[in-house]
Amino acid sequence: MISKLIIMAKCSKCNTPDLTYDQTYFENTGQWRLWNPAKEQPHICPKKPDPPRMIFCPQCDAQTRKLIRADTLQEHIKKHHLGFY
Ligand SMILES: [Zn+2]
Ligand SMILES: [Zn+2]
Repeated sequence: MISKLIIMAKCSKCNTPDLTYDQTYFENTGQWRLWNPAKEQPHICPKKPDPPRMIFCPQCDAQTRKLIRADTLQEHIKKHHLGFY
């Protein structure tokens, strides 16, 4: 007999315990989401993800530079300031 493996999980954003991963949803979409077995519905996280940190590129022209997302800075510098090798 094969019993279904249930992995208990905790939401890393709001710390809600006793959640599981939604296997059916994963099979349909290829993405994991958290499931709340007590409420028999997907875990709706009350915490919104943090807005991305915005910074100025240190290499752009100070007059014309725009705020860009901190996590895209490396990519931006590679693309706009280093050219291609
Ligand atoms: Zn949550
Ligand atoms: Zn730049």
